[in-house]
Amino acid sequence: MNAYPLTIRKRRELAYNHHTNDPVSEMEARSDNHLEIAKASYRDLIIQAEENVYREGLLKTPHRAVKAWDFLTSGYSSDPAEILRAAVFEEDFDNMVLVKDIKFYSLCEHHLLPFFGKVHVAYIPAGRIVGLSKIPRAVDALARRLQVQERLTKEIADVIEETLHPSGVAVAAEAFHMCMMMRGVEKQNSTTATTYFTGSFDSDPKVQERFFNSLRGSVR
Ligand SMILES: [Zn+2]
Repeated sequence: MNAYPLTIRKRRELAYNHHTNDPVSEMEARSDNHLEIAKASYRDLIIQAEENVYREGLLKTPHRAVKAWDFLTSGYSSDPAEILRAAVFEEDFDNMVLVKDIKFYSLCEHHLLPFFGKVHVAYIPAGRIVGLSKIPRAVDALARRLQVQERLTKEIADVIEETLHPSGVAVAAEAFHMCMMMRGVEKQNSTTATTYFTGSFDSDPKVQERFFNSLRGSVR
């Protein structure tokens, strides 16, 4: 079947010519190129699955898939440190601040399949606090990229460390991985848990224990 005979190189050439000849702004041309090239890639994938790209239900699928992909990888265009820095306040509070049950959706970089779950983020301020709504937004900025859960967990801790310089940061994530669940790997309902500690959470077992206790029930 040769429903879409252009090679990738040919398509890039066409997109490039279009870019140079078109009077629209360079930015628009670029995003136009991106859309066309990415759509062609999705069309190729559909053809590889031995489907008919011209079937009604699939006709606009490449376009929709590119839009979805762009959203799922939109974290690359936002800076989590900048998000946090926009709402840092000096405050004389030095007890644990915990934001629990932050839902996140990410893409496993090995299979390009989703992994998703909850992350809990705690820090002990040392002169600075951050607007609480900024933490979930920073998590989104890091999750909407090609990730592994281990790195995501550490990157969340790192960005809080870097912007607030607290006495310690604790991050615990628990997630389902579609690459395990959908591909027939055993233990389909198992979740993966990761933790990362800095400062007093890392060095003081009592502080770490308080974090885990707070996760279990209401704050005592
Ligand atoms: Zn995977």
